[in-house]
Amino acid sequence: AKAAGRAQWVVFDPDMRTAALQRIELERELAGALAAGQLRLTYQPVVDLQDEQVVGFEALLRWQHPTLGAVGPDRFVPVAEESGEIVAIGRWVLAEATRTAARWQRAHPGRPLSMAVNVSARQLVGGTLLQHVAEALTASGLAPSALVLEVTETALVTDPAAVAERLAELRALGVRLALDDFGTGYSSLSYLRQFDVDVLKIDRSFVTLLDGSADDAAIVHGLVQLGRTLRLEVVAEGVETTAQRDRLRAERCDLAQGYLFSRPLEEADAELLLLGQRAP
Ligand code: C2E
Ligand code: CA
Ligand code: CA
Ligand code: CA
Repeated sequence: AKAAGRAQWVVFDPDMRTAALQRIELERELAGALAAGQLRLTYQPVVDLQDEQVVGFEALLRWQHPTLGAVGPDRFVPVAEESGEIVAIGRWVLAEATRTAARWQRAHPGRPLSMAVNVSARQLVGGTLLQHVAEALTASGLAPSALVLEVTETALVTDPAAVAERLAELRALGVRLALDDFGTGYSSLSYLRQFDVDVLKIDRSFVTLLDGSADDAAIVHGLVQLGRTLRLEVVAEGVETTAQRDRLRAERCDLAQGYLFSRPLEEADAELLLLGQRAP
């Protein structure tokens, strides 16, 4: 009886059932979230490591769910990618982030200000990204060079040849491309050869190593050197301690993001931070 009970338990695992139902429910609600105005962007500052001045922001998506509260992108972006909803959501993100950046540039002219937007594989191979980027740039009036599209290595695995073509088209628009979460994929180095990117973002998992042994820190040294050798702009992600910051600065890493400098901010707070910067 015990064995049978256990077998049934496996088949009808209520946790699994709940998780599956939650996912279906999330997918259904996500389809209406955009129209319901439940999505918004937060902006995390990117600082120059030499003087810690803000030189740009990364737009990070948030979903204010009516009953669940704030749902993080790690939970709903994968769902949106699977359902295809990410294409419509991504279009909105591009429009919103470029509109904000252009407004800040007009309000505070002369300050360097780039805006980074995350793009998922599904958008990249879907065929409409180029159009959505062009449309966002035209509508906002933002200079293409102020827009950085962040692509993860995993996005490049899907169909490398097609992706390389899409990336080249985007780059021809004048936007910049960043390889996100660099070092966490399977063959980062071969991707660097295959895809023309402008920015390399060193994943937080490596930045964390800067608190450890000299051997661990050597990995970050190698990644920064690689970026410098290839004349890419290097951004360190997830900087949380002054020790990490100091090591990165000593390595001559260009830019950094992380809780040490600022958490992702609401639009108004991000603009206040920008205002507080030393005048150009
Ligand atoms: P990501 O692009 O690697 O973004 C960095 C994540 O690290 C963000 O999480 C950010 O809030 C967090 N972070 C920043 N500094 C620190 C730090 O010092 N310590 C720690 N522990 N974390 C830090 P978030 O906002 O939850 O976003 C998670 C992921 O969701 C992003 O990872 C990105 O892959 C995806 N995502 C966010 N917005 C979008 C979007 O508009 N479109 C798409 N396709 N994906 C998005
Ligand atoms: Ca990113
Ligand atoms: Ca990242
Ligand atoms: Ca990530």
